[in-house]
Amino acid sequence: MYGTGLLKGLGITLKHTFEREITQQYPEQMPVLPARFRGNLQLDFQDCIACEMCTKVCPNGVLSLESVRDDKTNKKKLMSYSIDFQYCMYCNFCVENCPKHCLHFDHNFELAAYDRENIKKVYQRPQELVTDLPEEIVAAEEKNQKRISVMIGALQKDAPKILGKLLEDEEKGKVLAAALASDQDKLEKIAVMMVEDIEKAKKVAGALANKAAKDHPKEGNVVA
Ligand code: SF4
Ligand code: SF4
Repeated sequence: MYGTGLLKGLGITLKHTFEREITQQYPEQMPVLPARFRGNLQLDFQDCIACEMCTKVCPNGVLSLESVRDDKTNKKKLMSYSIDFQYCMYCNFCVENCPKHCLHFDHNFELAAYDRENIKKVYQRPQELVTDLPEEIVAAEEKNQKRISVMIGALQKDAPKILGKLLEDEEKGKVLAAALASDQDKLEKIAVMMVEDIEKAKKVAGALANKAAKDHPKEGNVVA
């Protein structure tokens, strides 16, 4: 009969009108997540014994760490811990196999990032735990921190020149300096890389410069 479909549709609409609402007004209204929901992976740095069990069981190579051995106690001390979260498949192997229970997933599901390097989380040994290390390592760490502070200062003073030298291209250096002028956090990350791994710094700075040139083509920037 003509109009049966319409009546059926109206019937369904009417039925749902009086049901309990299930649509949530995200992001104003945050969802209530199950207790075992896996969001962002977190590390309790002070509890980690650098046993590397987590890095061995991770099927996707998400986790990596750096440690030093204290010759007096013959125990390893964690220096830094990286989680390259873009490759994580939430299998929970790392959490289940950690003997010190220092890995856990929190409920944060808003993990999207514009840049790949912002997805990777790197934990550095906190300053209050540095004194816990063997003397020679404390001295080396202090020296490293000083070099990083000097590099940050130099970049803040004359970023176009220093970045131009790093990229072996003055123009690219200027483009990148302009792009980083309002991003102190990224500038500091580049300073750390320039001290600790110059090849990586070149690679990251080059990629950022190309991206900045693409994003602002009107300013006469050229993408290599
Ligand atoms: S949850 Fe799985 S894939 Fe993700 S870091 Fe842990 S072991 Fe690796
Ligand atoms: S398994 Fe746990 S204690 Fe061992 S290195 Fe990984 S996070 Fe640290």
